[in-house]
Amino acid sequence: MIQLANVTKVYNKNMHALNNISVTINDGEFVYVVGHSGAGKSTFIRLLYREEKSTKGDVIVNGKNVSKIRNSKVPLYRRTIGVVFQDFKLLQNRTAFENVAFALEVHGEKSSDIRRKVRDALEVVGLKGKAKQLPHQLSGGEQQRVAIARAIVNRPSILIADEPTGNLDPVTSRSIMDVLEAINQMGTTVVMATHDVHLVNEMPKRTLTFNNGTIYSDVTEGGYFVDE
Ligand code: ADP
Ligand code: ADP
Repeated sequence: MIQLANVTKVYNKNMHALNNISVTINDGEFVYVVGHSGAGKSTFIRLLYREEKSTKGDVIVNGKNVSKIRNSKVPLYRRTIGVVFQDFKLLQNRTAFENVAFALEVHGEKSSDIRRKVRDALEVVGLKGKAKQLPHQLSGGEQQRVAIARAIVNRPSILIADEPTGNLDPVTSRSIMDVLEAINQMGTTVVMATHDVHLVNEMPKRTLTFNNGTIYSDVTEGGYFVDE
């Protein structure tokens, strides 16, 4: 579960990137985070994976007060949530398999366990046959699938995606949405920031619309109504 209580984030003295927001996201939900550029979406996302700390208010994720996690414990915390970005952030000289395995190998898993977990993750994202490809041998959509496999290989309870379809064409974007929905249906909470009105309206889900650092609306069945 994700709980924010009266959370404010100030980067510069008089600029409230987030202004006193409160919201609860329950286990298993699929939630879009939408709004104009500068509305606070990325800041919200960055608070969840402890890329930033709140200035005021508590961010509680799976019972942990995220702002209070010591810097040395942040990597451990991040293992419990998966994160996917617009620009994939794959290691260019590693295969798809190695990119996904990397998240496990750094904490000394047995290689047979690594192989099984990586294979499972690649299967979930529909990339079973592409494990030996390097990123540049894959399409953008396939690279994002590798990134998603890497994010879920530790079986996190929460998957956070910041504009995951931002670099992809509409057809590829839809296929990525299918992957995210499948992962959600396996029980993973999905929180996805997006600008893409069409995607949100095609696959209606709970939608938090940010505006000027506040949550302007929170509706259960999708719909992205803000004019761009
Ligand atoms: P969005 O993701 O909706 O575009 P952001 O969360 O990136 O919104 O930004 C919210 C506000 O905070 C904007 O005014 C932005 O300029 C500011 N901001 C974001 N990140 C930083 C930062 N690292 N330093 C200073 N200001 C920032
Ligand atoms: P086989 O199943 O044919 O015996 P292995 O499972 O031993 O083959 O895999 C051989 C190597 O191929 C592994 O060490 C692994 O790095 C790589 N590999 C390629 N594709 C995959 C995949 N989809 N899942 C797991 N390993 C893969």
